[in-house]
Amino acid sequence: MRGLKCRHAGGWSHARGEARCRDCGTVRVTSYGALRTPDTPEVRTPPARQAHIADRLAAEWVARTARRRPWWGLVTPMGA
Ligand SMILES: [Zn+2]
Repeated sequence: MRGLKCRHAGGWSHARGEARCRDCGTVRVTSYGALRTPDTPEVRTPPARQAHIADRLAAEWVARTARRRPWWGLVTPMGA
């Protein structure tokens, strides 16, 4: 709860892409580098077979959804 009332008047100490409030310890990220993982991200590509299955399932879902009556189709227009 201390952090919620702190107006950070004590100033900020800066280190490695972050600023830390000297009073409450609130951390603010000041550069993109602080958010990065130490290693480069691993490149992961799903196998072609899985991509094909996902495409077919998505197409099937779209086809089924397009045929269904939309929710606004249930609303009767006024005066009708
Ligand atoms: Zn503070």
